[in-house]
Amino acid sequence: MKAREIHLASRPSGWPEPDNFRLVEVPVPALEPGQVLVRNEVMSVDPYMRGRMNDVKSYVPPFQLDAPLDGAAVGEVIASESPDRAVGDVVVHNSGWRDLAVLPAARTRVLDTKAAPATAYLGPLGGPGLTAYVGLVEIAPMKEGETVFVSGAAGAVGSLAGQIAKLRGAARVVGSAGSPSKVEYVRGLGFDAAFDYHDSPVRERLREAAPDGIDVYFDNVGGEHLEAAISALHTHGRVALCGAIAQYNATEPTPAPRNLALAIGKQLTLRGFIVTSYGHLAPAFYAEMAQWLREGRIRYDETIVDGLENAPDAFLGLLRGTNLGKMLVRV
Ligand code: NDP
Repeated sequence: MKAREIHLASRPSGWPEPDNFRLVEVPVPALEPGQVLVRNEVMSVDPYMRGRMNDVKSYVPPFQLDAPLDGAAVGEVIASESPDRAVGDVVVHNSGWRDLAVLPAARTRVLDTKAAPATAYLGPLGGPGLTAYVGLVEIAPMKEGETVFVSGAAGAVGSLAGQIAKLRGAARVVGSAGSPSKVEYVRGLGFDAAFDYHDSPVRERLREAAPDGIDVYFDNVGGEHLEAAISALHTHGRVALCGAIAQYNATEPTPAPRNLALAIGKQLTLRGFIVTSYGHLAPAFYAEMAQWLREGRIRYDETIVDGLENAPDAFLGLLRGTNLGKMLVRV
């Protein structure tokens, strides 16, 4: 049996190109005791994967050249040498970017696909949902009645962060996104105001959308967005530094935020986080999110690209913003 995998063929400098990736056919090895063979159905592409394409030390090791990329995926167990997994189990795991994955059963989690569709475990019930929750509940703890600003508001994490803020009692939630149709979408999610960050300086648009200032900023973007938020934050305001996608492909250091010194007088808290360090909050998160989903109080959308061979295009599209909600690849 052969598996198809996407390998990293070369390391991008600046924006990745299709020829940084290669589709490779490899034989599927025989299963060892404790392993399972999973037929991947859907895989996730995520912004953090851009950082892993650089050969630098970080919180996750870099992808290796001429080896498959990896990342979250859901699929069906089609062979098992583990007493803990049965053929037919639908599991989530981290061996994406391939159609067939051999891995230890212990690195898979069986999904309850009656409770939610399998893809929800890559979105609201997966990394993006937990990231949004951790950022708002733990990192930049939001209180009822506060004003919250979320960038990347039409994306997987941002769309959930804004909705969670409303559900937890924010008085006003403002979002930014990269096109008029995304702005409409964000308003439709229940954000009180939204703007297209291409229209004019973010600082001006944020001032219009939140004339009385903000208490919490959920930062997915960095750069000019972060600078605008620092200006708009009240004394004792909080920032969850979740991502800085505006600079993931930069080849030069980005100048903004140029107003960081304001954080002193305003006594701001700017706190970075990596969601995988907050697994202890997962049980509380799952309980709350599952309830919201059951009650239809959280909306989530997916942009699905068909075919493993198109996974690099899906990833490049994600960096350019062609996704609404979670970007996924149907393997
Ligand atoms: P998204 O679904 O939000 O997709 C990425 C989006 O980024 C695009 O759709 C695009 O939307 C936007 N974007 C791209 N370039 C720019 C730019 N220059 N300025 C503003 N927006 C831009 O991805 P995720 O929800 O998966 O991730 C959102 C952020 O959260 C990322 O920064 C990611 O790295 C971070 N993250 C952090 C985690 C953590 O543990 N700290 C865990 C998971 C994600 P648009 O069209 O609106 O520009």
